Amino acid sequence: MTTFDDFKLTKQLSKAIEELGFEKPTPIQIRSFSVVKSGKDIVGIAQTGTGKTLAYALPLLQGLSYSDQVNPRILVLVPTRELVVQTVDMIETISKYIPCRIKGVFGGTNINTQKDKMAEGMDILVATPGRLFDLVVSGALKLRDVKKLVIDEVDEMLDLGFRYQLTNIFELLPERRQNIMFSATMTEDVDALIHAFFFKPKKISIAVSGTPLENIDQSSYAVLNFNTKANLLKHILKDKETFHKVLVFISTKKQADRLFEEIEEEYGTECGVIHSNKSQNYRLRSVEEFDEGINRILIATDVMARGLDLEKISHVISFDTPVYPENYMHRIGRTGRAKEKGKSILFYTEKEEDAKLAIELLMNMEIPDMDFPKEVEINPQLIPDEKPRIIEKIHRNRKSKLPESGPAFHEKKAKNLKVNLGGPGKRKPSKYKKPKKRGDKKANQKRR
Ligand code: AMP
Repeated sequence: MTTFDDFKLTKQLSKAIEELGFEKPTPIQIRSFSVVKSGKDIVGIAQTGTGKTLAYALPLLQGLSYSDQVNPRILVLVPTRELVVQTVDMIETISKYIPCRIKGVFGGTNINTQKDKMAEGMDILVATPGRLFDLVVSGALKLRDVKKLVIDEVDEMLDLGFRYQLTNIFELLPERRQNIMFSATMTEDVDALIHAFFFKPKKISIAVSGTPLENIDQSSYAVLNFNTKANLLKHILKDKETFHKVLVFISTKKQADRLFEEIEEEYGTECGVIHSNKSQNYRLRSVEEFDEGINRILIATDVMARGLDLEKISHVISFDTPVYPENYMHRIGRTGRAKEKGKSILFYTEKEEDAKLAIELLMNMEIPDMDFPKEVEINPQLIPDEKPRIIEKIHRNRKSKLPESGPAFHEKKAKNLKVNLGGPGKRKPSKYKKPKKRGDKKANQKRR
């Protein structure tokens, strides 16, 4: 077991931690400490409440030398004023025995007071991106001495439309700096930001589902394509008693609409759909109708479902397999919140097998395969989104496996079923190694 002693903290930091009453570091703190201290870029996927503030603050404070210079050396960007206050508070508490100056700034308050504050000088600045940028433009603040940049809750920051300010701030920072980022979910926007501004970051993932994994019955179906998945979904939804409150996840808004159209004829009167292209009113109504039981089914994209507080969902169905395994954890965490066990069903195509395996590696457990129901029609017709990529794949490296893209895939899966349930090691060879213990998992992540 790792303890705070293993971090070899200074006496002053140890004393502050002791006074807080924290007995042992949290998983994100354990895994981040040495990476942050080494000066490498790091991306941590962790939700609020996992202890991520100390995960970066402890190693940064440990390495901070005394200075009376005016310009900040550590810059912490957070999306909201509440988080500025909370973060300043936490860093002040653990640095109380160190001569360390911390300041916090955010929008919606008098900028002149904050300009005066900047002139007093600081070691660590915690800020929202908009106000920080205004202070720099006005000349009240200089970022040329920033050696460490922390961006917290970056997914929310990008969702709030801070991409432009962030990019501008990056341009003003010295090139030689350490980047430390935390995000609750992985999105394409977050990924793009990492690729543009980070240097070979170490990725640390502490995926917490809203519900403990043992409270969720997970299963999966190997399905040929979108249209066959739609047939399977329609078949499953027939059992209204068992499937009485079903949240269906799908990655894109375009596919969410397509799926709704597919099932509309049979289930249109009991199904809502929410994504960011729908009006606020429509979304609110859909969620309300689902929550009150007027609608039995809700189709939602990952980003949209993030802030929903939905109770007693009988089933979460992942119509597609998330490319970012953390998003799967968020999806399944929506079920099983009441006393009953939650149920999660994953649909995956052959192309999504790697993504499924990545999820299994993250959870360190296999998602059992179910028999594809014989009565469900296999529809080989591809939707436009599926066509180009499949052709590309065949050209590149699948020539000899052409027949597998047809209904034979289901037969193959049926044959594999016994093998799959037989446990790790008997699976068909894969580029991923099955984790036997945590260390293996880490090795695999490195490989990815
Ligand atoms: P954060 O994820 O940084 O917002 O932290 C969530 C909460 O966990 C805060 O209230 C911290 O005070 C608390 N916390 C952080 N680290 C620990 C720890 N090692 N042991 C117990 N509580 C902690």
